[in-house]
Amino acid sequence: MALRQQIESMKDGGVVAISIPKVPYRCPPGPYERACVIASYLQQAKPKSKLLLLDANPEVQSKKALFEKAFKDRYAGVLEYRPNAELKEVDAGTSTAKLEFEDVKADVINVIPPQRAADLAKNAGLVNVNNRWVGVNWLTMESTALPGVHVLGDATFPAPTMPKSGHMANQHAKVAAAAIIQLLKGEAVNSTPVVMNTCYSFVSARDVIHVASVHQYNAEQKTFLPVPGSGGVSAAANRWKGATRSRGPTTSGPTRWPCLDPP
Ligand SMILES: Cc1cc2nc3c(=O)[nH]c(=O)nc-3n(C[C@H](O)[C@H](O)[C@H](O)COP(=O)(O)OP(=O)(O)OC[C@H]3O[C@@H](n4cnc5c(N)ncnc54)[C@H](O)[C@@H]3O)c2cc1C
Repeated sequence: MALRQQIESMKDGGVVAISIPKVPYRCPPGPYERACVIASYLQQAKPKSKLLLLDANPEVQSKKALFEKAFKDRYAGVLEYRPNAELKEVDAGTSTAKLEFEDVKADVINVIPPQRAADLAKNAGLVNVNNRWVGVNWLTMESTALPGVHVLGDATFPAPTMPKSGHMANQHAKVAAAAIIQLLKGEAVNSTPVVMNTCYSFVSARDVIHVASVHQYNAEQKTFLPVPGSGGVSAAANRWKGATRSRGPTTSGPTRWPCLDPP
């Protein structure tokens, strides 16, 4: 809401900057989706404005071709994508994003900070990968630092290509719960767990793209690996047909999506 308010009160001709931290961070497509949605709004409501997408990573981290197509086809002149642009510091007084080799002045700066497992995990002695993440045994989700403690979701150091998502955290929970039951019974845990992920991203107020992936435990490498040929991405953006979704049990009728609909 604060970000929305700042963008709405920005002058036409203003600059919005979003900084993306190095992977792993939660919801890999999230910042690119946010950039598209904001660019879509600027295009319609403040057409002289610009959005700078400052990515600490060398390239778009999810749905790459689809986001790049959206940047080029829909937002040329509005959205500027800059790879290898890691944010080092923000000077709030002058509203300046300081990168390694240059300073970028913007009217609105949306900093997505570098991420790590919460202090709770750190203080409990669970953080044992890169001083940031919790290493787990992928068959049980048991911590590799503290026996008897099972950890799920964003706090874990991810398996190769495994996204940090709510969908994936839910899948982790199922692996952990099934394994804990087996361990309590003194029986062997499932040696071939499979988890999956699906994620949808808006590239405008109405058009959506998706990615899906399936990850199978690999006994040799003791981690989940993506199943070759599984999952995939949308061939192209699809028009979203849920524009008249009801608000919930007490209110019905068309919903105005605050961050998606132009004013
Ligand atoms: C913009 C954005 C869009 C996203 N979109 C999607 C999407 O479309 N689909 C999807 O699957 N995922 C999406 N995600 C990712 C998803 O939100 C996370 O991956 C998911 O919430 C991870 O769940 P978690 O339980 O591991 O961590 P969290 O949801 O972060 O839960 C951890 C909880 O622990 C609490 N906590 C921390 N320390 C303590 C303490 N000491 N005591 C008590 N509680 C504590 C925190 O307050 C928090 O509530 C998105 C994320 C973002 C930021």
